[in-house]
Amino acid sequence: MPGNRPVILRVAVNVPLNRYFDYLCPPGYPSNRLLPGMRLKVPFGRGKTIGVLLETTHTSELPLSRLKRVLAVIDDEPVFDEVLMKLLRWSADYFHHAPGEVFATALPALLRGSRPLPAAPEHWCATPLGQAAEPLKGASRQQALLELLLEHGSLSESELPALFKGWRPSMRALQAKGLVERRIIERGPPIPGPEAPDDVSLTGPQQKAVAEIGAHDGRFATTLLFGVTGSGKTEVYLSLIRRLLASGQQAMVLVPEIGLTPQLIRRFRERLPGQLAVLHSGLADGQRLEAWRMARSGEAAIVLGTRSAVFTPMARPGLIIVDEEHDSSFKQQDGFRYSARDLAIVRARLHGIPVVLGSATPSLESFHNAQTGRYQLCELPERPGNVAQPSMRIVDLGAHRSDHGLATPSLMAMHAHLEQGGQVLLFLNRRGFAPALFCTECGWVAGCDRCDARMTVHAAKGQLRCHHCDRRCAMPAHCPQCREQLIPVGQGTQRVEDFLRRQFPDIGVTRIDRDSTRRKGSLPDKLDEIRSGRSRILIGTQMLAKGHDFPDISLVIVMDADQGLFGTDFRSSERLAQIVTQVAGRAGRAQRPGEVLIQTRFAKHPLLLDLIRDGYAAFASDALVERRAAGWPPYSHLALLRAESPSQDDARIFLEAARHEAEKICDGGTCLLGPAPAPMEKRAGRFRAQLLLQASQRNSLRKLLGPWIAKLENLPQRRKVRWSLDVDPVDMF
Ligand code: ADP
Ligand code: ZN
Ligand code: ZN
Repeated sequence: MPGNRPVILRVAVNVPLNRYFDYLCPPGYPSNRLLPGMRLKVPFGRGKTIGVLLETTHTSELPLSRLKRVLAVIDDEPVFDEVLMKLLRWSADYFHHAPGEVFATALPALLRGSRPLPAAPEHWCATPLGQAAEPLKGASRQQALLELLLEHGSLSESELPALFKGWRPSMRALQAKGLVERRIIERGPPIPGPEAPDDVSLTGPQQKAVAEIGAHDGRFATTLLFGVTGSGKTEVYLSLIRRLLASGQQAMVLVPEIGLTPQLIRRFRERLPGQLAVLHSGLADGQRLEAWRMARSGEAAIVLGTRSAVFTPMARPGLIIVDEEHDSSFKQQDGFRYSARDLAIVRARLHGIPVVLGSATPSLESFHNAQTGRYQLCELPERPGNVAQPSMRIVDLGAHRSDHGLATPSLMAMHAHLEQGGQVLLFLNRRGFAPALFCTECGWVAGCDRCDARMTVHAAKGQLRCHHCDRRCAMPAHCPQCREQLIPVGQGTQRVEDFLRRQFPDIGVTRIDRDSTRRKGSLPDKLDEIRSGRSRILIGTQMLAKGHDFPDISLVIVMDADQGLFGTDFRSSERLAQIVTQVAGRAGRAQRPGEVLIQTRFAKHPLLLDLIRDGYAAFASDALVERRAAGWPPYSHLALLRAESPSQDDARIFLEAARHEAEKICDGGTCLLGPAPAPMEKRAGRFRAQLLLQASQRNSLRKLLGPWIAKLENLPQRRKVRWSLDVDPVDMF
């Protein structure tokens, strides 16, 4: 009889081990009150830590006598609902990551300890006496506050400060008169904000997309919303969400890290009723917890956030949207290496709700899934209101003289656009003054001693910096080998900025990159310089590629397309096409027709020509043909085992041992490639190597990975290295 056997708790303990742990119930705690998803305080090794209860059972691999007791049950109710529990278990299993760390990642930082779940803030509302009260004579603030409460029904203590400055004394006075009272409202319906007028009437393709996606209400379906830049994808999201909120459900919107701009947040706030919970890494822990709580209780109608927001609990989920789904920031690049885009789809399937992936430049994986019918495809081929797509042209760097990286035709185009009152955006994905410092005499190059990389010149600070490990040193005055003169070679954004200031002295120049926007508040200032027209030349890195709208930009110059054409990664060309298309999309947003110039030394490169002549879809179709021929994803499935160590041999020796283990388990459906040095072998003083696993069937890979990881965890060679497994890697170095 199970009733007589002790209850065993299976727990995801927050330690870096790829397994669950069994415990016994704490003394005197009724086991029937334990529910999966509750947090527990458990003994571990010689210390204590936190875990999440997975399930209760009656069997364990260990004898009962060896099981320890849980020290305390932290929660009275599960922190994660059933779907999230399934999602997290699935994630740990799929990405082969320590489940305790997976569960901890999904919790707001403040809940990773034993702090209790936050309670809902208290709400104030008028009592029946207050509802019937005559106007209060001689107490105009109290009267105003009472009217505000009557208008809103009730207001929480987190909303009041914004609506009524210094509300507390007046509220106390009203309370003393019995006109208002305090209540805890939990899991209430979303509190409707001021009903926003819906001023945009959707275009035909937008209406079609809303109808086709809306047709899946209440069941799982994945739609790829493929809309050219500026085609109104966000308007489609807003319309879908508005419909959903009317039926009392919540929507989740995931955006890339640099896509979550104040502009976007404002647009959601202004255009949608209901509260918005915003979650991103820049929040203070307390703010993040409050947003999480509002999403979980259902008070927030919309959850808007970056990667890790995919784990936010929702009381009544109805729709998930992943905007700019191709963006690599949806993939976590260290620790628990999950893909938030892929998890959004898994989560939607578990909830039985629709999910929308939006992009002007879909990833080839998603594009392929749409082509084969796994995803529904909705297209927005044009910009609304007769705004033309910008025209693109190649500028052959080999055929023209150039000055500071700008070819003569590009400079001429700049003059022409500026004279006509337009604005110019220059895109160069290289910050700093110059990417290298050379000796003209002996050929010495300033390299980083900790990385296989050149040091970047930061002239304003008189420094050399490594952009890979952040090592900094003073710029040498002479060549350390031959004492001759050193010259900075190549163009970085700072150097081009200096040049443009000299070239166009009467026109403001604004630079946007990580260096110029480090200080808090400087990015909005810089954006404002451009939007107000105080500055009409904008130079920057990929920080410019998305999220920001610059309505008056009429000319875009991609200064160096070649950086992306010959990358070592099979995704280099896809990335290049995406960034060129996204940057080009900044042009001609207003009525002004846009022009885009792409500077390259390879003016006949078939991929560039494809993209320019026929657009991203044509590029994607051709790129998929190449992927198929080469057997890369989506036509195969990858996992990458990485290792790094201070000595060059140890990483390789570990990977060789790992390969040997894999060969013993492998069913022949998975190819093992390597070990090989990483494309940048030395980084921050460590040597890096990798072993790539490639399988045409996902199942073959899955069957191999589980038992393999278990072996790797016990390999003696592991002691000298740091290693990690990346399932579906996005970056190959
Ligand atoms: P995307 O998300 O595809 O980049 P947005 O939704 O931001 O596009 O729309 C681009 C611009 O076009 C915005 O200024 C938006 O207000 C405008 N817009 C979008 N849809 C419409 C429409 N149906 N009617 C008028 N303007 C629209
Ligand atoms: Zn020299
Ligand atoms: Zn370095």
